[in-house]
Amino acid sequence: MEVELKDYQKHLEEKEKEWESFCLRCGACCGAYDDPCTHLQKDQTGKFYCDIYPDRFGVRKTVSGHLFKCVSIKKMLQTHWKGDHLCPYKKLQKNCLGI
Ligand code: SF4
Repeated sequence: MEVELKDYQKHLEEKEKEWESFCLRCGACCGAYDDPCTHLQKDQTGKFYCDIYPDRFGVRKTVSGHLFKCVSIKKMLQTHWKGDHLCPYKKLQKNCLGI
């Protein structure tokens, strides 16, 4: 039973990694093309990352001072943001739901 639970946890971790790997790190969902979150950073390759990623959820502030609530990308899929037409999660949603 314990082995099955560990296998299941490992399976969930792999699925989470797979899900995260779809991200292009374009930064669009964090305001890269508009008013970015103050925690959005660009690395040397030009890709974006969050400098507090493991603790990102909750009330955050944009560069212009606007407060917003950071939520998972899964919760954002019903919303729109500048550049979202390039986001693989949006494309997956469109392909799966036909919307
Ligand atoms: S818009 Fe999509 S691809 Fe771009 S950073 Fe956000 S989740 Fe990743």
